[in-house]
Amino acid sequence: MKIGVYPGSFDPITYGHMDIVKRALKIFDKLIILVSVNPHKKTLFTEEERIAMIKDACEDKLEFIEIETSHDLTVAHAHKLGATHIVRGLRALTDFEYEFQMTHANRVLDKRIDSVFFMTDNKYSFLSSTTIKEIAQFDGDLSTFAPPKIAKALRDKFNH
Ligand code: ADP
Repeated sequence: MKIGVYPGSFDPITYGHMDIVKRALKIFDKLIILVSVNPHKKTLFTEEERIAMIKDACEDKLEFIEIETSHDLTVAHAHKLGATHIVRGLRALTDFEYEFQMTHANRVLDKRIDSVFFMTDNKYSFLSSTTIKEIAQFDGDLSTFAPPKIAKALRDKFNH
């Protein structure tokens, strides 16, 4: 069984992340979505909220995914779970430099785990969790960025 690990903050999950999950599942039999917990990175949603939102958004794929949180190095966690690859998404060119650095760092840490990248659908190229949080803050229309339940959770967070 081919297992991939898709790490990220998912604060919250968007249609962009979901597009990467869909593409990765064409190659991997199982995808472990690894919700990063970084005490130095402040998130809008708690770990539990982010997991619940991923479950909602990927409701039709739960047979093929697992959702875990990681307090560990991604490569260490991936190896422990029997994964061979780290899955990441690429939007515009600006993602490249960061991903380039991360991939090389991860290779130095564990050369058994490689990284693969999926390019998102054009319409999600400029979509990020940060953008949708900013739009939600001003009660903008979120319908093209995230599923209705996620949009509602965002509106609730900002008391709209
Ligand atoms: P991180 O804080 O680790 O970057 P994110 O949740 O922002 O976590 O992103 C996790 C992964 O999903 C990254 O590889 C990122 O490039 C990718 N990603 C985020 N938004 C999109 C999108 N709109 N289209 C494709 N990939 C995306």
